Amino acid sequence: MEVRNCRGCGRLFNYLQGQPLCPGCLAELEEKFQEVKEYLRVHPKAPLNEIAETNEVSVKQIKQWVREERLAFTEESQITLECEACGARVLSGRFCNNCRSHLQNELSGAMKRPTATVAPKKNGSTKDRMRFLDN
Ligand SMILES: [Zn+2]
Ligand SMILES: [Zn+2]
Repeated sequence: MEVRNCRGCGRLFNYLQGQPLCPGCLAELEEKFQEVKEYLRVHPKAPLNEIAETNEVSVKQIKQWVREERLAFTEESQITLECEACGARVLSGRFCNNCRSHLQNELSGAMKRPTATVAPKKNGSTKDRMRFLDN
């Protein structure tokens, strides 16, 4: 096990994975996340620095949540993040839809899987994602 200093409060803690934060700070951050998510729901057009100031979260942190696809901006939002591959506007995640499908093609190509037997996707996954975005 690895012992690290918490990036939030500086205390030593047993580091497992993810962000270098102790369980206490991690719980606080999770609360912040819920606040920001709710704020975005009520103020979908709020600029990034306003969200950050109002909720006392860093702009960097908010962007990270978006990159992790935990937060998603809406079409009417002023906020833009760029696709890490081509620079197009993305509302959530690291890549635009185009690059995402390119990457997926490359991945499946690299694995050399036979493409003939692609089972039709049953409802589940997209529905779940919609529910996540609606929250
Ligand atoms: Zn801490
Ligand atoms: Zn792209």
